[in-house]
Amino acid sequence: MSDVDVIVIGSGPQGLAAATSLACEGLTVLVLEKADHLGGAVVSAEATLPGFVHDLYAMSMNLFVGSAFYEKHRVELQENGLEFVVSAHPYASAFPDGTSLKVSTDEGDTLKMWRAHSSADAEGWQRLGQLYDDFTQVYFPVYSSPLPSKSIASAFRGLWKVRATTPPAQLLQLVLSSTRSFGDRYFTTPEAKSLAAAWGMHLDFAPDIASGALFPLLELYGNMRSGMSIVKGGAGKLPAAMARMIEVRGGEVRVGAEVVQIQTDGRKATGVQLSNGEVIRAQRGILTTTPLPNLVNSLLSKQSVPSKMAEAARTYGFGPGTFMIHLALKGPIPWLDQELSDVCYVHLAPYVDDLARTYQQAVAGILPDEPLVVVGQPSVIDPSRVPNPNQHTAWLEVRAVPSEILGDAGGDLSEISWDEARDIFAERIIDKIERYAPGFREQILAQVAFSPVDLERVNPNLVGGDSVSGSHHQQQLFGFRPSWSLNRYATPVNGLFIAGAGTWPGAGVNCVSGPLAAERLLRDTHPSKRAFRRSR
Ligand SMILES: Cc1cc2nc3c(=O)[nH]c(=O)nc-3n(C[C@H](O)[C@H](O)[C@H](O)COP(=O)(O)OP(=O)(O)OC[C@H]3O[C@@H](n4cnc5c(N)ncnc54)[C@H](O)[C@@H]3O)c2cc1C
Repeated sequence: MSDVDVIVIGSGPQGLAAATSLACEGLTVLVLEKADHLGGAVVSAEATLPGFVHDLYAMSMNLFVGSAFYEKHRVELQENGLEFVVSAHPYASAFPDGTSLKVSTDEGDTLKMWRAHSSADAEGWQRLGQLYDDFTQVYFPVYSSPLPSKSIASAFRGLWKVRATTPPAQLLQLVLSSTRSFGDRYFTTPEAKSLAAAWGMHLDFAPDIASGALFPLLELYGNMRSGMSIVKGGAGKLPAAMARMIEVRGGEVRVGAEVVQIQTDGRKATGVQLSNGEVIRAQRGILTTTPLPNLVNSLLSKQSVPSKMAEAARTYGFGPGTFMIHLALKGPIPWLDQELSDVCYVHLAPYVDDLARTYQQAVAGILPDEPLVVVGQPSVIDPSRVPNPNQHTAWLEVRAVPSEILGDAGGDLSEISWDEARDIFAERIIDKIERYAPGFREQILAQVAFSPVDLERVNPNLVGGDSVSGSHHQQQLFGFRPSWSLNRYATPVNGLFIAGAGTWPGAGVNCVSGPLAAERLLRDTHPSKRAFRRSR
């Protein structure tokens, strides 16, 4: 393919969703991907042993399943091989005494679980149900719109509609609360508070960070209502289906194609240069999914970056790193509490103070002594991922860890590189799981671990191993993502647009920013608009 209408940089879910949207509008699209495979952080591979398929990074596809993009393209994606399986037991938290809190899609079962645990927590859980219903009426229209935009007006309309059951002040208080204060308001036991706070750590909302509370609320109730969806056969089938939709419309998705420069003619972005020297021109525009600092510091020349954009890139912050372990197992995980055997995500923290300490340690460069381990059990709901039904895979996500190791709260590693520490740290995580599931280690047939440094090596958007491509603290969220001067997906460089986890609504396989940025590109570069500009 020579010159094209639009070049998209990055084949993660946002890049592919943008390219699909543009291809559906009849534009010729070229997606350029640095890695030798598609998908960004949505990849599956037989990473341990033949026949054991692992989702190397993202596993839960709930945000995708709930997206307008999926709603619009569902049939064609299914025709291209995309199918979901849904866990009826989406998540749980386990505790050192062998007990657990397990949430199921059957609301009656979940309430029974709460009543057996604590009647006060059961009452708090029920109060949360009303809050969730009211909050989502206000929040969902905002989540799926550019910010700022008219969606703010629908949020106000939502506030008006729900005022009888949840007064606006209560919703505002929720949005401002930390996950610790949220837990303290609705729950009484340390276990229930931990179940809530663990969800904040999937982003970078440690228990004492202001405004983290809305994420646990969305996950606690949202996952109970919908269950946990994963892609049948492995997450990689999702980008593969999108790539086929692009190709059938005359577009191309090229892997092993690293963009090293975005070229401008002084007025607008004109094309890109690849690491092999090839130059490709784009007639209508370029849409990148790189975080703002990568765009400004690596892809644009200094002269083409206005000072406000340079300043926004300088102040854009990344969160702590993530560590991943994938295991091929002989059999199921031998949990102390056997009820956990069919749960999609099991959180091992154990308590809120452990989460708070972990975050502080990670940002200070210290290997945490009790990091949160999210134990994913995908093969329990999707046996097609293993060679035989008695065998299993485990997806272990460790939150949060330092990008660079300066000290060690769990031992005596210090000033050691992640390449040296990777296997030692992985063994510690396996030891931790062993405390909740004695005999776990004996089940392991093979394992592979990715440190924060490995994550960034494969995908430069994961700066410092930050799995969410930039802190989600409120100063960098809503209309401030990536910055107030750069919201709504356009950049000051004509013809250059930005989407991806580093733009609103942030990380996750939500496929929101890609299509919204594509819409903006279509509007801003429409031929009639250019004619209008020329005639002025
Ligand atoms: C370990 C991990 C676990 C996660 N778990 C979940 C989960 O369970 N559920 C969920 O919803 N989300 C999860 N996420 C988050 C989610 O996967 C990401 O937020 C999402 O993939 C972001 O999509 P994106 O398209 O913006 O970028 P990415 O998916 O990060 O893709 C960006 C792509 O751009 C490419 N690229 C970058 N620079 C260049 C360049 N110069 N030239 C060419 N190509 C380039 C990269 O190689 C990469 O392939 C997880 C992320 C990680 C890392």
